[in-house]
Amino acid sequence: MRIVIVGGVAAGMSAASRARRQDPEAQIVVFERGDWISYGACGLPYVLGGDVKDFDALVARTPAQMRARGIGVRLGHEVTGVDSTAATITVQDRVSGQTLTEPYDRLLLATGVSALRPDWAQTDLSGVHFLREIPDGQAIEASLKGARRACVVGAGYIGIEMADALRARGLSVVLLEKAPEVAGRMLDPEYQRLVRAELEQHDVDVRCNTGVVSLTGRDGRVTGVQTEDGLVRADLVIVAVGIQPRTELARAAGVRLGKSGAVAVNARQETNVPGIYSAGDNTECIHRVTRRKVHIPLALSANRMGRVAGVNMAGGDARFPGVAGTGIFKVFELGAARTGLTQTDADTLGLNAVSVDVKSTDHAGYYRDAQPIFVRLTGERGSGRLLGAQLVGCGDSVKRVDVVAALLHRRASVQDLFESDLAYAPPYSGVWDVLLVAADRLS
Ligand code: FAD
Ligand code: NAD
Repeated sequence: MRIVIVGGVAAGMSAASRARRQDPEAQIVVFERGDWISYGACGLPYVLGGDVKDFDALVARTPAQMRARGIGVRLGHEVTGVDSTAATITVQDRVSGQTLTEPYDRLLLATGVSALRPDWAQTDLSGVHFLREIPDGQAIEASLKGARRACVVGAGYIGIEMADALRARGLSVVLLEKAPEVAGRMLDPEYQRLVRAELEQHDVDVRCNTGVVSLTGRDGRVTGVQTEDGLVRADLVIVAVGIQPRTELARAAGVRLGKSGAVAVNARQETNVPGIYSAGDNTECIHRVTRRKVHIPLALSANRMGRVAGVNMAGGDARFPGVAGTGIFKVFELGAARTGLTQTDADTLGLNAVSVDVKSTDHAGYYRDAQPIFVRLTGERGSGRLLGAQLVGCGDSVKRVDVVAALLHRRASVQDLFESDLAYAPPYSGVWDVLLVAADRLS
């Protein structure tokens, strides 16, 4: 059994490790076009912000450690073609320049996503960056030397985390967003505004409803971003305007894509082409609340899909359970989290949904350092089904979103949440935790 994996980060390396455990005899080879494997891209903004020592700290396992486990790792090897009839792949060895043909019995596509690059961002000017991989982070670190003014384009996950990181490094930051508010895809407008207020409180100059026209530069270096509303001067520009799944290989192999544009798979991570599996950010999956196929590229699902694919490719039987649409991010002193559906999501889907908002404190008001926490709980009118939650609050307080996420996986009701026996002591919550208060009001 020869298991070949394309892509050596979250999904690819999880698959390799699980396949090795499932079948100690299988030959397992990972082809990674870059120089890094098995690392947490999620930590990149924190290295750049100074909370994490260096890029090496993000690496979970080195190629040598993987090889010691009997997993072949070929760095600098880009897979450029798949012949599903012959069951071979074509690989370009970046160092030697050679083109290789490699056979497989099982093939996993774990190629992730790439950053969207609008026309105005296709430039050779130095100081203009995207952030997906460790070399992107290293390039930003190099550009930070001597930089004073940053412009971040796109106020989604990466844009917000990078605005925070760049302020921590002492730069002035303008954050441009073409939508009416920041964090538009994650939260309802009221909660988007809380995130924006936190950004502004930390001197990020947030400009929404602002489209970019072009970049300006001098002597090969960026000097600013020309918007519809004028010029933003900047010596460092981060472009974070969204992502798209890398599906070139899948398409070349005759693998079907879903409506989301990501690779379509069944719960075993099998594509429509026998022997070819797909996992991670390039792959769509089932949403537990809506039962629809979605593309929500996040780290836990990438690792979990990889694990499922690894077991199955090596002859076992595992299923991916789907996602609840859970996400969380830090913005200065605040965290923002969501799971399931927002009211906006539910309205778009035509559900008869209703939300309640509760403002409380993250722990007992009489215990020191109590901080505000905002919770929106959304349920379905009539059935009482729990649909989702959004939380904005200090520090770890928003991690209680996980209680709701776990219940969504069980298709629980708002009443089920209200009846849950949640932990209480004054330093951690009120005796009626804010989630219970919200559930009580909604049920
Ligand atoms: P990737 O990590 O993209 O890995 C795919 C690999 O495939 C790449 O190394 C690529 O070089 C390789 N590859 C592609 N094509 C080929 C080819 N043809 N031949 C050989 N190799 C190829 N998620 C969270 O849940 N929480 C977070 O806080 C979070 N923060 C993030 C912060 C940043 C800055 C970024 C960029 C992402 C963040 N994510 C976060 C998302 C998370 O990193 C991804 O969900 C996860 O890395 C996906 O893993 P993957 O293996 O599917 O894809
Ligand atoms: P995103 O989709 O989260 O945000 C892109 C933002 O850019 C949107 O708000 C969009 O309206 C805006 N935009 C689009 N075109 C624009 C333009 N021309 N001018 C100004 N604004 C524009 O995408 P992202 O932040 O680039 O990447 C996010 C991906 O990275 C996520 O899908 C996730 O996989 C991952 N990520 C997750 C986390 C986390 O979970 N905490 C953190 C960082 C990254």
